Amino acid sequence: MGELKRFWKLATDFDAPLENCKEEIEKFLLERYKNKSNSRMLKIYYALKPLLPWRLQISLRRRRAKFVQDSFPHWPIEEKLENLKRKVLKSSLKKDNNTPFIWFWPHEKKFTFVITHDVETQKGLANIERICEIEKKYGIKSSWNLVPERYSVDPGVLDKLIREGFEVGIHGFKHDGKLFNSRKIFDERMKKIEKYALEWDAVGFRSPATHRNHEWMRNIPFEYDSSFPDTDPYEPQPGGCLSIFPFFIGNLVELPITLAQDHTLFEILEYKDISIWKQKIDWIEKMNGMALVIVHPDYIEVSRKDSPGEISFAISRGKYPIKYYEELLRYVKNKSNCWYSLPRNVARWWRKRDKSEIRFNKNGKPYIEGPAAKDGAIAWAKLVNDRLVLSQV
Ligand SMILES: [Zn+2]
Repeated sequence: MGELKRFWKLATDFDAPLENCKEEIEKFLLERYKNKSNSRMLKIYYALKPLLPWRLQISLRRRRAKFVQDSFPHWPIEEKLENLKRKVLKSSLKKDNNTPFIWFWPHEKKFTFVITHDVETQKGLANIERICEIEKKYGIKSSWNLVPERYSVDPGVLDKLIREGFEVGIHGFKHDGKLFNSRKIFDERMKKIEKYALEWDAVGFRSPATHRNHEWMRNIPFEYDSSFPDTDPYEPQPGGCLSIFPFFIGNLVELPITLAQDHTLFEILEYKDISIWKQKIDWIEKMNGMALVIVHPDYIEVSRKDSPGEISFAISRGKYPIKYYEELLRYVKNKSNCWYSLPRNVARWWRKRDKSEIRFNKNGKPYIEGPAAKDGAIAWAKLVNDRLVLSQV
C-alpha cells in the first residue's frame, strides 16, 4: 500500500485517488531526488577529516554552510512534501463531501514533541544525570541513544534511566564511520548490535552522523529508526526525507529528525539563540506534525551553577550553554495540547493507527476499528471555500 494512504487513513471507500502519486511521494521519503556527484565530494572530505585539525574542519564546514542556502531540500523548513500530501487529498475530495480520517495523534493532541540524545563519548555520559534533572523539572522524558562499543556503559546508569521512565536506544556500533562501508559490514555489525539492544531493552536505532540506506535498514531488528532528517544540508550525508511525520520503511517506523542539530546551529552556524528551533516548532505545530530534536550531552556546557554569567564564562571549545536547551523546553511546554512523548511510544502509536480502519455504523456515523480505537479520534477533511480544512469536529 502506498505511503500516502497510510498517512491519511481515510475510510477505504475514499482513498483510491491517493495511490496516484505513490512514486513522487517515495522519491522524497527515500531521497531518490539526490545528486550523486555532490555526495562523492563529501565522501572525500569525510575520508580526509580525521587528518585535519579541528579548527580547519570547523572552518571548512562553516564555509560550506554558506553555499547550501539555495540547496534542496530547503533549510530549516521544506514544505514541498507536506504541501503535496495536502494537495492530493484536496483534489480527491468532492465538493460538500466531508471525509473522515484517523487523526494523526492519540488523545486528539495537536502535534508531537520528542527529545532524543546521542551520547558521543564518555564525557557525554557524565552529563546524563544533570540533563535528566532539567527535563524532570519540565515534565518531559527523553530517549538516550548510546554507542555499544565506544565507551563503557555502566549498567547502573541504564537501570536508573529505565526506572525513571526514560528510554534507551542504540547509536550505531563503534561510531567510527564504518557501519555503512559495505553491506557485509553492516549486516555483521547489526547482529552484534541486536544483542546489545536485547540487553539494554532498546527498541530504537539512530545511525551515527545520520548515515543511512533505506534498503539496508528496512529489516533491522528494531521497532523504529530515527536517522533520516526531514532536511539537513549540513550533515555528512546531506538531504532529507522532507517528512515531519513518521512513515514506514519496510517493517520499520521511521521517526524523522525534524529540528536542526544543536551542533549545526551553535557551532557551525554560530547562532546565539534558539530562533531557528522556535520557527520550526511553530510551523510543525501548524501542520500538526512531529518536532523531534537531537540534543548531544557532549556539546552542552553543564554547570552546577545556573547564573548566566557563570555559564558563558565556562563555555569551552565546541560547547553551547545549557540555557539554550532550557529555553527550548520552556518554549514547547508553553504550547497547548502538545503530546510530549518518548520515541518508542510515537512509533507504537503510528503502528496502531496504521493497523486501524474507519468503519461506519448503521446510522452512517464513522468509528475506528482496530488497535487505535481506544486512544484515536475521528477527524474530518473538508473543502471550505476551496481550501482544505482538517478538523476534529
Ligand atoms: Zn553520534
